[in-house]
Amino acid sequence: MTAERRQQFNNRAKELNVLPIKVPPHYKKMVQEEYEVLGRRGGPLYRVVYPTSDRLEIRIPHEVPDFVEDQSNMPSGLANVLIHKYRSRGLFLVTDRCVGHCMYCFRQDVLTDIHGNPLPPLEERLSRVVDYLTKHPEVSELILSGGDPLNIPFRHLSHLFEQLAQKTKVTDIRIHSRNLVFAPQVVSDKVAELLGKYRARIYIHVVHPYEIEDKMIEVIKRLQDAGVRTYSQFPILRGINDHVQVLETLLRKLDDLRANPINLFIPDPISYSASFRIPMKRLLQLMDELYWTTSSWTNGVRLVLDTPIGKVRREDIIAWDKKSHQITFQREGKNVIYHDFPADLEQPGELDTLLWKG
Ligand code: SF4
Repeated sequence: MTAERRQQFNNRAKELNVLPIKVPPHYKKMVQEEYEVLGRRGGPLYRVVYPTSDRLEIRIPHEVPDFVEDQSNMPSGLANVLIHKYRSRGLFLVTDRCVGHCMYCFRQDVLTDIHGNPLPPLEERLSRVVDYLTKHPEVSELILSGGDPLNIPFRHLSHLFEQLAQKTKVTDIRIHSRNLVFAPQVVSDKVAELLGKYRARIYIHVVHPYEIEDKMIEVIKRLQDAGVRTYSQFPILRGINDHVQVLETLLRKLDDLRANPINLFIPDPISYSASFRIPMKRLLQLMDELYWTTSSWTNGVRLVLDTPIGKVRREDIIAWDKKSHQITFQREGKNVIYHDFPADLEQPGELDTLLWKG
């Protein structure tokens, strides 16, 4: 992408509250390889980090900045720091920065590059979180997210684990990270040992099979050798992984790595997400194809939509109005309406482009 186009996009992104372009060198190399093979832009890895022409052009009614309503589940005094939505589980936004920006990001509203208010120092936020958790001993599981929690310096990460172990009732710590894709070198031996010592679980975010390369494989093995349990999850994204063969390839690779895939996500209908969204009917067809044509260790994953009432699945659909594209899910007696992506606006990804290595 030329410097001029990049600047134009970033200016417009600022006006519209959309993440600017930020591509780490390791990923840039992978995109360059894709460009050389395809002879054009717009391949799956390109779409992860660079905007295509339709990125800011398509607006679908009912897209919102925060579909899952994270903001309303942040306790008083812990805005943009802690989300406490489920009784026994919390989510600590350890940092508001990422090494790279994913164009499809569904947490854009909590990242500093969007809201422009840097978070208070980690030490101060940690002390507030620890204070809250001591008053809420029912929270036994804490997710470290962000931004990317593996971005923070080792001494901070180490202190964070110590404090949680010494002062709270948290027994399970789960880290969500995309750094293994963007900058695998940040996971040093010291970090792996620390995560192993506290028996942390790490959920690796990978959206395309070509994101899995040697350095990342080495880091995952190092983490596992240190005693870290590894899992994975990812959204199904148009133009990136929206074909059964891509999904199968990715799920097989993750299984080979013992990064057990847990959830496949329906993209949240957030503002300017249209270029990645897929109509529900096709999403369900993709999942059916996956169930019917692949082995059980590949297709044991669940397709879920994260919503203000929690995660819902296809069996939670209680009404589907095909004319208004309105789908109603029900969970524990509560309803949530999802506005589907119209089929006439989508162009599914093409296999030759999605799996350009052949
Ligand atoms: S790494 Fe995660 S939080 Fe950061 S931009 Fe990508 S999807 Fe969003």
